[in-house]
Amino acid sequence: MDTDPRSTLIAAADYFYNRGWMLGTAGNLSARTKDGSFWITASGRNKGHLSFGDFVRIASDGTVLHKPDLETRPSAETTIHQVIYSLFPDAGSCYHVHSIEANLVSRFTDGDALALPPLEMLKGLEVWQENPKVSVPLFANHFEVPQIADEIRERFQDVLPPVNVLLIRDHGVTVWGSSAETTRNYLEIVEYIFQYMVAARKTGIG
Ligand SMILES: [Zn+2]
Repeated sequence: MDTDPRSTLIAAADYFYNRGWMLGTAGNLSARTKDGSFWITASGRNKGHLSFGDFVRIASDGTVLHKPDLETRPSAETTIHQVIYSLFPDAGSCYHVHSIEANLVSRFTDGDALALPPLEMLKGLEVWQENPKVSVPLFANHFEVPQIADEIRERFQDVLPPVNVLLIRDHGVTVWGSSAETTRNYLEIVEYIFQYMVAARKTGIG
């Protein structure tokens, strides 16, 4: 993204907030610019009322390049965005939300991957197979976020995820894509699939 992505991120946060996916101060959104730095939501800001002063600009090495004032800090989960951008050079945006469905489905397995049902909607995550068997990588939640980021880096360095989605148990879901629009589409698709999985359990078919 060449231009300032903050208005796009504000619109996305507003939409996700209204869907109940990033209530209060929960979740964080970022977008990378041409020079390799990225803008990310500041820590502790309500996601339904963001403005340009609620973002911090971070260099690829984690250095803060811009913040609106001395008190403003980048999201506590900035290290996860940093890892995603370093692992995936084509990633232009990274969105992380704390939806109810993401938390519920993260308890559907004790393992480190969550199998998704073979829904047509998977095409929206670039899965082009008949009856696809796709599992989303599932990570443990840690109080120290850099530990989560380290585990993501270690695992993805060995095995790339099948879709641009990762789940943190009892915490939330993270998606990334080449553009803000693609990333938003991915998040909507994965939330649909998670909602389907919760509904399927309720009806006894999942
Ligand atoms: Zn989070």
